[in-house]
Amino acid sequence: MASFAEAAAMRRAIALSAAGLGTTSPNPPVGCILLSPSGRIVGEGYHERKGEAHAEAQALAAAGRLASGATAVVTLEPCNHQGRTPPCRQALIDAGIRRAVVAVIDPTSRGEGGVAELRRAGIDVETGVLAGEAEIVLGDWLAGQRTWRPVITWPYLITGQGLGQLPPDTSEARQLRLNSDAVLGADGTVWEAVPGSHGKGILALQDPPLGDGAAAAAALYDGGVRRLLLDGGLPVAVPFLDAGVVDRVVACLPYGNASSRPAAEPPWPLLPPGFVITGTTRTEAFVRVEGRPGTLR
Ligand SMILES: [Zn+2]
Repeated sequence: MASFAEAAAMRRAIALSAAGLGTTSPNPPVGCILLSPSGRIVGEGYHERKGEAHAEAQALAAAGRLASGATAVVTLEPCNHQGRTPPCRQALIDAGIRRAVVAVIDPTSRGEGGVAELRRAGIDVETGVLAGEAEIVLGDWLAGQRTWRPVITWPYLITGQGLGQLPPDTSEARQLRLNSDAVLGADGTVWEAVPGSHGKGILALQDPPLGDGAAAAAALYDGGVRRLLLDGGLPVAVPFLDAGVVDRVVACLPYGNASSRPAAEPPWPLLPPGFVITGTTRTEAFVRVEGRPGTLR
């Protein structure tokens, strides 16, 4: 069973892994902590960008020779394939790791991934540790492995005049972009949400079939997008809503002195049909209402 220090390290690894959201795709955002036999952190890291060092490699580099005999605490099963970087399971073996604590098993490994190789090398491995908490960060990547499309978020502004695009200079819009891989604008252009993360200004998409939400989503997934933000008001969202591939909506309601306003006929419901409220927050300018597909209770 994972020790208290290992569970604490896993939560820190989960938090670190979230720093890679928006820049690691199509790779997963992963965090790794190395603990000395006495439970002290000797190295930590997270996967920051596609093509750059994985979380385990970052942590091993930070720990240096202190990695020998350490416990590796990782949010996702260490990779087992030679990609742009060498497989992490081999780096952990070579560094002399004695024990590995893993939250989520890579669904593509089919029991023959990094964990199997670590065990074969004589390393004590425990899996499923805080898996549910790790999935809070890894969930969108894991969903893509099942659906072959990005997780799609649609933010919008809702006023007495109707439903419109969330102003791009608001903190809500900036925060949503930071957590996304790509932004689909009103003109059908797909931009990378965090400039530089995919190595070019605009994702190279050959004529994505934007009239068909499901086909567009699949094309964007093939282009490496795992988290897509729709940023063009209702016209951009409609094909995706019709295809049933919008996973989250963020409705922003300006609130100043709302209770003194005369009652008005709302031109649009707060959430699209079939969506339920999953959270609300008051921000500086808006009441932010998050919704997901679901059933009323
Ligand atoms: Zn790796």
